[in-house]
Amino acid sequence: MQKYGGSSVADAAGVKRVAQRIVNTKKAGHQVVVVVSAMGDTTDELIDLANEVSPLPPARELDMLLTAGERISMAVLAMAIQNLGHEARSFTGSQAGVITDAEHGKAKIIDVTPGRIEAAIGEDAIAIVAGFQGVSQTTKDITTLGRGGSDTTAVALAVALKADVCEIYSDVDGIFTADPRIEPRARKVPRISYEETLEMAAQGAKILHLRCVEYARRYDMPIHVRSSFSEKEGTWVVKAADVAGVVSEEKEAHMEAAIITGVAHDRSQAKITVVGVPDKPGEAAAIFRAVADAQINIDMIVQNISEAKTGLTDISFTLPQGEGQTAMTALDRVRERIGFESLQYDDSVGKVSIVGAGMSSAPGISARFFEALSEAGVNIEMISTSEIRVSVVVAEAQIEAAVNAAHAAFELGSDEIEAVVYGGTGR
Ligand code: ASP
Ligand code: MG
Repeated sequence: MQKYGGSSVADAAGVKRVAQRIVNTKKAGHQVVVVVSAMGDTTDELIDLANEVSPLPPARELDMLLTAGERISMAVLAMAIQNLGHEARSFTGSQAGVITDAEHGKAKIIDVTPGRIEAAIGEDAIAIVAGFQGVSQTTKDITTLGRGGSDTTAVALAVALKADVCEIYSDVDGIFTADPRIEPRARKVPRISYEETLEMAAQGAKILHLRCVEYARRYDMPIHVRSSFSEKEGTWVVKAADVAGVVSEEKEAHMEAAIITGVAHDRSQAKITVVGVPDKPGEAAAIFRAVADAQINIDMIVQNISEAKTGLTDISFTLPQGEGQTAMTALDRVRERIGFESLQYDDSVGKVSIVGAGMSSAPGISARFFEALSEAGVNIEMISTSEIRVSVVVAEAQIEAAVNAAHAAFELGSDEIEAVVYGGTGR
């Protein structure tokens, strides 16, 4: 199973290059099924087009429109492969048996019945499948899986077809210890667990679609993230036991095993502070009920100690920037009932996280992280942790300094420049 992102098939030359690559895999004796994204920025352009004709495009029609992007790339890719003398057939998500629920724009895959793909393989043809789309089981309408959803299509098909591996091709060589655009010494991670990848992706690292990793973990489908612009080995996303096995071999060979796998950052955060909340039972519940009822996902929460004199406290929380306005409106509506004083909104914050399975058994990781930040003059506004992650909220202007400091403190850097970004978008 191979999946090619939009930057790999951005134009005719890209399509031909990918076609050659697929044919080479086939010639090496493999059965190949390919999932492809829309060419270049097609999806964004189609969204712009929709917004030009309607301020609120109906979800059903928007999905119909967006799936056209992948139909173009699958057809031209099949043509290019046939031109190289190999049998290739393209299939829409629906034809490939990708069955979803009816949630337009964020449909979930509920079943994969790839009969036509199996038939194509049986006839020795290369099957090309349009990513990011399916068909609703109930309404029979065409659906999309959400932005970046082709990764999930690829893993779901790989599982249904019992593929050995799901190769995900983009314009970067794999998963790096930090974003190479702000950390030039970033190193490629050879192997990473599903759990670490999920944490990295959830903390803002733009590596793989979150749902694709969840799917791969559930069915233990190894993912090989690599570049379609080079032949280099990329990053293997595998189960934790497989990473640990390699790490203990390295230890036996007296090689250094890293505690931290990578540093992720996220600029799209905002912070809301609810000022002057009466310190009595039920207040936090009422505040977060109002936010939850507005369908907003919050991330970190901090409640200050209340001042003895006033009996008032402040509660701050972070949320995606895009939902800031909705949350402020929802909270303002309940201000009098709950009885807090005022609201503050700050969208010039960001989040920096260190992720690594090794930290659950190594003491002092947070201390080392915070010391590095303090030496770099970075002020920590909030902290949250999981078993394999420590995250801090910092001023947006200090994100870069924080990433560089953490990267250096955990000795993640390589001596030579490893990271090459071949395309432009990072997908
Ligand atoms: N073409 C879709 C997008 O740009 C899906 C994908 O690339 O995976 O979001
Ligand atoms: Mg895309």
